[in-house]
Amino acid sequence: MNQKKRIFLSPPHMSGEEERYIAEAFRSNWIAPLGPLVNTFEEKMADYVGTAGAAAVSSGTAAIHLALKLLGVTKGDTVFCSAFTFVASANPVLYEQARPVFIDSERCTWNMSPQALERALDEAERNRNLPKAVIVVNLYGQSAKMDEILAICDKYAVPVIEDAAESLGSVYKGKKSGAFGRFGIYSFNGNKIITTSGGGMLVSDDEDALKKARFLATQAREPAVHYQHEKAGYNYRMSNVLAGIGVAQLAVLDDRVNARRSVFQRYQEALSEIDGIEFMPERGMSNRWLTTLTFDPKKIKTTPGEIIEALANENIEARPLWKPLHRQPLFQDAVFYPHHEDDSVCDDLFAKGLCLPSGSSLTEEEQDRINEVLVRRIQYQ
Ligand SMILES: *Cc1c(COP(=O)(O)O)cnc(C)c1O
Repeated sequence: MNQKKRIFLSPPHMSGEEERYIAEAFRSNWIAPLGPLVNTFEEKMADYVGTAGAAAVSSGTAAIHLALKLLGVTKGDTVFCSAFTFVASANPVLYEQARPVFIDSERCTWNMSPQALERALDEAERNRNLPKAVIVVNLYGQSAKMDEILAICDKYAVPVIEDAAESLGSVYKGKKSGAFGRFGIYSFNGNKIITTSGGGMLVSDDEDALKKARFLATQAREPAVHYQHEKAGYNYRMSNVLAGIGVAQLAVLDDRVNARRSVFQRYQEALSEIDGIEFMPERGMSNRWLTTLTFDPKKIKTTPGEIIEALANENIEARPLWKPLHRQPLFQDAVFYPHHEDDSVCDDLFAKGLCLPSGSSLTEEEQDRINEVLVRRIQYQ
């Protein structure tokens, strides 16, 4: 039996200050719903990412859903989505009985291919079926080419929702990741770069829209003592206790970014000599939420699956890259636009890549343990 301490992919990393805010929430009895720490967390997030405002909600998924509602997405509409992502990016499209259309990645960011997007929009315009929105993901911390994507979407007057659940703290073209689209969303799920145990944030420069988001997120309750309701709403707001955790976590976000980037750098130093390994490229400054890499099957005989298994035998958690959404049974009928007609970049990445443990609390000794297994597995294949 293996007694070695478990190394997780991306565990929560508390600063120690969180309990002070939790105690404050308890002392003031602002437990839930809402309360002053929610306002503080929203203001600090908007300040940090550089948007006019922010609305704290119960999850990143809820933030995406609210953004779709605010853009008027309804039954039968189409929404273009990144294909290479976690299912939560596209699930809210299904909540509205709208239809996701998946857009492939490009090699230099692993994110939405501007070429494939343009092809899809051009075809949609000719069919008089432009999407109501485009949801662009910034995978593993790396921003998509937001400048190019926004320019293309502007041409067709289609608004962009930026799924920055994994890229909080990253910078692209001098701007914080998540601040590019009409709406940006972040997640504070347990595995993200900072966590409130569970939670999310919707950001925008459109403060009226954020006001509507807060309204929809609190059961669409009209201002009347007798609880007047004219629309169907949701129970999506963040509690004051969790917002307190968020305020303390946000204060150490830049440290967490630096730590994850150091983890990445150490992997790179330990493994870059191996012919056939390529790390996820970087454009701008990525928070390196997860260190991800691909193995060239012509040069490396072992597979990502075998490496994941070898690591698991040493009580180390590693994962494949996200399985493209158009490959999920859930979306089997969805249309997919590859980068080039016969070159699906995300399918290729999925076949060749994996994610390594990348927590900001990962020690150098733990990382040596991981590298030892990797090098052994690759060299004595
Ligand atoms: C985590 C994640 C989400 C969902 O956030 P939750 O807070 O877990 O709902 C959405 N998109 C991406 C890309 C994610 O990684």
